[in-house]
Amino acid sequence: MGPDPELVDDCVHCGFCLPTCPTYVLWGEEMDSPRGRIHLMQQHVEGAPLTDAMVGHWDACLGCMACVTACPSGVRYDRLIQQTRAEVEAEHERPRSERALRRLIFSVFPYPRRLRVLAGPLRLAQRTGLDRAVRRTGLLDRVAPSLAAMERLAPRLTKPEPLPARAPAAGVRRATVGLLTGCVQGAFFPGVNAATVRVLQAEGCDVVIPPEQGCCGALSAHSGREAEAQGFARAVVDAFASAEVDYVVVNAAGCGSVMKEYAELLGPEAQAFQDKVRDIAELLDELGPVATRHPLEMSVAYHDACHLGHAQGVRVQPRRLLTAIPGLELREIAESELCCGSAGIYNLLNPEPARELGDRKAANIVATGADVLVTANPGCLMQVAAAIEGADHPMRLAHTVEVLDASIRGYRLD
Ligand code: SF4
Ligand code: SF4
Repeated sequence: MGPDPELVDDCVHCGFCLPTCPTYVLWGEEMDSPRGRIHLMQQHVEGAPLTDAMVGHWDACLGCMACVTACPSGVRYDRLIQQTRAEVEAEHERPRSERALRRLIFSVFPYPRRLRVLAGPLRLAQRTGLDRAVRRTGLLDRVAPSLAAMERLAPRLTKPEPLPARAPAAGVRRATVGLLTGCVQGAFFPGVNAATVRVLQAEGCDVVIPPEQGCCGALSAHSGREAEAQGFARAVVDAFASAEVDYVVVNAAGCGSVMKEYAELLGPEAQAFQDKVRDIAELLDELGPVATRHPLEMSVAYHDACHLGHAQGVRVQPRRLLTAIPGLELREIAESELCCGSAGIYNLLNPEPARELGDRKAANIVATGADVLVTANPGCLMQVAAAIEGADHPMRLAHTVEVLDASIRGYRLD
């Protein structure tokens, strides 16, 4: 089908989006800017065949949506790149090695159970120091840069925390909330899901966690694998269908951004589900606090995940939740609109530019002098942690909800 010609025509080529586009900032190439990419879409709409060069410029796009925020003409670049990617997947033959890498990624990442299986040996390698030994040889970097990126990005894994199918509200119940546990979030950051449940309970919510839920479809949707994304999305809607929840809460920005567009992906029958979807910060802000906040004497640099800030417009709520904690000082990060280079699976497919963006983000974070870096997306947490480790600046990283959990429970953020 390809990019919608009417949406392509909305671009007036003003260039306001250019300074916020990470690839344009890195390389200064017009064809690696939003305007340039839309120009290529225009050429294709007018009959130019897909070429490797054209696809390369679209593949280099992080899908960060900084251009959507910046565009004064309301150009729907988010839709355009999704439609373009679907066309590329259907019509363009990638080199064999790239096809194999994509097959590997998509046969593991959208499957929580497979990810959990992978987490076991990874945890063992981290405990024995095998991961660091392999990294020191530099062998993986030379023979398989994408696998090296996977190894570098893997967070320090903790023991999984089993979640109940239902957790009751503390005190008077104000809402019944379904929780999406996510793929990477569930397997690599089980503590974030556990903290989300505790905070929701403390704020008067019954929490329902359907055990049969799977991937939300975000990785597939953002990579042009539309049919696969629809299959995952339908299964998520079905998993929550009998739960009778007021809201479906998400603590991973990438997942939330796709679930808020389920009606576009699945059709109008998914609208009722979509209307219930909230990011955790959005819902907590909407409900207002009832649980007491204990002081946390620390400074926090807050990083806007692109799929929370640019894609969902959720910027004020996490800041409001954090600054309501007594003793906590919030610090802003320079170039906050620029992506950290994580962008779903971008850092696996394009490790070099991703690393450059990660280093740039890490330098801006370190410059704040904050004690803790807080963000609301597992991809950003992994990307920024790897970059900060590279900068040799030990720093605690946490999800917004882990900070709230520590404050409500009266614990130090460990
Ligand atoms: S989505 Fe991000 S990387 Fe892609 S064109 Fe827009 S600003 Fe640039
Ligand atoms: S996408 Fe928007 S900001 Fe960028 S060139 Fe087109 S109209 Fe201007």
